[in-house]
Amino acid sequence: MSAEKKAVTIEEKQYLLRFKADTKSHLHVLSSDVCLTQCPDKICTIFCPAEVYKWEEVRMHVGYEGCHECGSCRIGCPHENIKWEYPKGGHGIVFRLG
Ligand code: SF4
Ligand code: SF4
Repeated sequence: MSAEKKAVTIEEKQYLLRFKADTKSHLHVLSSDVCLTQCPDKICTIFCPAEVYKWEEVRMHVGYEGCHECGSCRIGCPHENIKWEYPKGGHGIVFRLG
């Protein structure tokens, strides 16, 4: 390696995931009322591996930028209260192997 070549940090070598977030969410909780009144366990806050869903007293905050696109919330919400789409082309998560 030449002396001028910039050293790569451990953090740069280790990164496995990168995100290119769209400005608009690809995930929508259809009704906060349903969450509030019919879903005491708020299980999306448990099953989502990326912790996208956070309950904030009376509404669900959706941190769509960190979504791993696993699709679990399409089937995991017992009230079919989450509208799920893939992010627009060119946006979303980027996986890197090795
Ligand atoms: S699982 Fe569905 S109904 Fe329950 S809190 Fe999450 S979005 Fe709302
Ligand atoms: S697709 Fe997966 S990672 Fe994305 S919000 Fe749904 S459960 Fe979370």
